[in-house]
Amino acid sequence: MSRIAYVNGQYVPHAQAAVHVEDRGYQFADGVYEVCEVWSGKIVDAPRHLDRLGRSLGELRIEWPMARRALEFVMREVVRRNKVRNGIVYMQVTRGVSRRDHYFPSEDVAPSIVITARSANPKVADATAAKGISVVTYPENRWPRVDIKTVALLPNVLAKQHAKENGAKEAWYFDKDNNVTEGGSTNAWIVTKEGVLVTRPAESGILRGITRSVILDIIAREGLKFEERPFSVEEAKNAKEAFVTAASTIAMPVVKIDEAIIGNGHPGSVATQLREMFHTATDFMMV
Ligand code: PLP
Repeated sequence: MSRIAYVNGQYVPHAQAAVHVEDRGYQFADGVYEVCEVWSGKIVDAPRHLDRLGRSLGELRIEWPMARRALEFVMREVVRRNKVRNGIVYMQVTRGVSRRDHYFPSEDVAPSIVITARSANPKVADATAAKGISVVTYPENRWPRVDIKTVALLPNVLAKQHAKENGAKEAWYFDKDNNVTEGGSTNAWIVTKEGVLVTRPAESGILRGITRSVILDIIAREGLKFEERPFSVEEAKNAKEAFVTAASTIAMPVVKIDEAIIGNGHPGSVATQLREMFHTATDFMMV
């Protein structure tokens, strides 16, 4: 089946989906994006993702490309046309097309929007989760506004490629105090030997992950022990469990950080249970 993308008002075959060479996303990475999980034919946590999209757009003073209701419709339509039951829907909004010039273009330049969707086999992710992943630590090298979900991901690309070349799935950034900030495309968590879940506050230094916020809801609902505070690379290496969260991976156990084996080297029970419980706390948009 051929894939379909939505590009600036039209549904087009994926192979022909294109943006202009002077799109500011292409020229300056002047744009933002969102990724929602698609699970059992439903879009997961669309309201939270669209709230964050609105915030990212606002911080960069980019207009909404269309009304939020219309955007929800197109998201559903792209998922439907691509027959995605499990996978992701991706949306990207840039400041639009204009002659290359750093200053914002005039107000009549409309933002560009692209929405795509693709299938993923949940059994593959579950098999990975059953074994757990390795991460490597990497010095923080990003701009301070990582709270904005921009498409300017070059540092993340380099960090994740470094992880891959070192046999790991994810890179964990650490700041000047040796505290873990987050992964290249995930939020970072540990469970201490006392069974306390720990993740860094989202006030600065990390993206306020939607999956992270759902896990926080589960923690509150289940009355689990939890501390929102920075944790060091050293503490993570000595933790009972570690895991990462993102819309595309849910809660994914970490079994190795650099050369340190975490816990008994197998996925921890807390991370595994949070993964299993995840969709009991999410909101669904029917396709
Ligand atoms: N941190 C970074 C840098 C990310 O790129 C992502 C997801 O892409 C996350 C955290 C997790 O965010 P979410 O749970 O909203 O997918």
